[in-house]
Amino acid sequence: MDYLPIFLNIRGTPCLIVGGGEVAARKLGLLLAAGAQVTVVAPEAAAAIVGQAEAGRLRLQQKTFEEEDTEGFRLVVAATGIRKLNERIAAAARRRAIPVNVVDCPELCSFIFPSVVDRSPVVIAVSTGGASPVLARLLRTRIEGWIPAGLGTLARLAARMRAQAKQAIPEPRARRHFWERTLEGPVSDLALNGRAEEAESLLQSEIEAAAREAGQRRGSVSLVGAGPGDPDLLTLRALRLIQEADVVVYDRLVSPEILGLIRRDARRIYAGKERSHHAIPQPGINALLAQLASEGDRVVRLKGGDPFIFGRGGEEIETLMAHAIPFQVVPGITAASGCAAYSGIPLTHRDYAHACLFVAGHLQDGSLKDLDWDQLARPNQTVVVYMGLQGLPHICAELIRHGAPPSRPAALIQQGTTPEQRVLSATLETLPGRLEGARIKAPTLIIIGEVVKLREQLSWYRSRAERDEASESC
Ligand code: SAH
Repeated sequence: MDYLPIFLNIRGTPCLIVGGGEVAARKLGLLLAAGAQVTVVAPEAAAAIVGQAEAGRLRLQQKTFEEEDTEGFRLVVAATGIRKLNERIAAAARRRAIPVNVVDCPELCSFIFPSVVDRSPVVIAVSTGGASPVLARLLRTRIEGWIPAGLGTLARLAARMRAQAKQAIPEPRARRHFWERTLEGPVSDLALNGRAEEAESLLQSEIEAAAREAGQRRGSVSLVGAGPGDPDLLTLRALRLIQEADVVVYDRLVSPEILGLIRRDARRIYAGKERSHHAIPQPGINALLAQLASEGDRVVRLKGGDPFIFGRGGEEIETLMAHAIPFQVVPGITAASGCAAYSGIPLTHRDYAHACLFVAGHLQDGSLKDLDWDQLARPNQTVVVYMGLQGLPHICAELIRHGAPPSRPAALIQQGTTPEQRVLSATLETLPGRLEGARIKAPTLIIIGEVVKLREQLSWYRSRAERDEASESC
């Protein structure tokens, strides 16, 4: 982050604008809207500025700029359009430690103006750090369309009732839950439609109801699939639950970008799941979820991929059921779907595969037990192996031993759907050898079957790692 986004209270504060043209007039509008006490210094000023000066809304000094003009101001804007002059203004302000903005010259600025969506008191500011003001404006336009016009009414209502709600629902977490429910419910609908009085009386009765219920609310657990890594692959429900959660219990497969979406003051508990040593053993996780929810927390148990595919989601739910704790399960995109899509390997295909099997390929006591090799070696199907990296040579050898042709295509996908994705495409015979020296990083998924060949035509996603690799080999 190159700039710190803050909202500055400049009501009644002396601010200087140097320049009297269109651009200066635009900045003037912003400063006046925020209640600043503005002085404009310019030898000539646009009619709009002169008019405002005559109406007593600002002080206009029709003169050329001198260094001393910055004296006594708390904010300076240089909008002269003349590079040399702007540089002098910026230097004069900096010498006096006054924050300065030079329009269209980020390198001379100590602060920049964001693009603003104004639904006062709700204000949304967008900045690209000076990289592309046009992009910031495009984003602003999108946000404008998305934020209801009546949001200001809703915010003012919330402000009026805040103290009363605080008194009626003293426990902070219960109060936050109350506001989250209310600001998305009928009260919000009324306020956004401009029916402020009805919204207020409904809010009044909801506060009273919440005060009566206080202390009785039970927590809950949502078992949420976070998908394979790319945060865009989260479901809408997963995103909403992550942002409402009091506590998020997550494991190693959940990507940092997705963790970044968690509410900032929510608790985060890392539950581990490293291969062969868990940060918290499974029974501990099950008990922890039950305990947090019984204390009234809204708990999100966030798991890579889909919680019901090699995710031990079932075990966690059994414990919750035993404690009569309300829960829900939110499916996620499993690694097989994510990796298949992002590597251009369809899991089924009319000509090559009419079935697809998901198997767990982790070694137990150094060998692979419980896999039906005859079934896995059959043609016209795709086999997807989760947790198969360590056992890969063994898996390939067993499949060949049980009748699969050594030339059957097989691919290994590393960190699918993320910028680190890499795909090694080979055959049952050659894939183990390809791994040597390939610096493979977990997690990895193996896809075996004729469909792997389709990647030659269908691959579309190029990760950062693949681009780097291509440029290294040039
Ligand atoms: N519940 C998860 C699977 C958990 S088992 C799901 O539905 O995807 C963990 C295994 O999933 C890893 O060992 C790896 O085989 C696979 N996996 C998860 N995310 C992956 C990714 N982004 N790329 C490749 N494999 C992944």
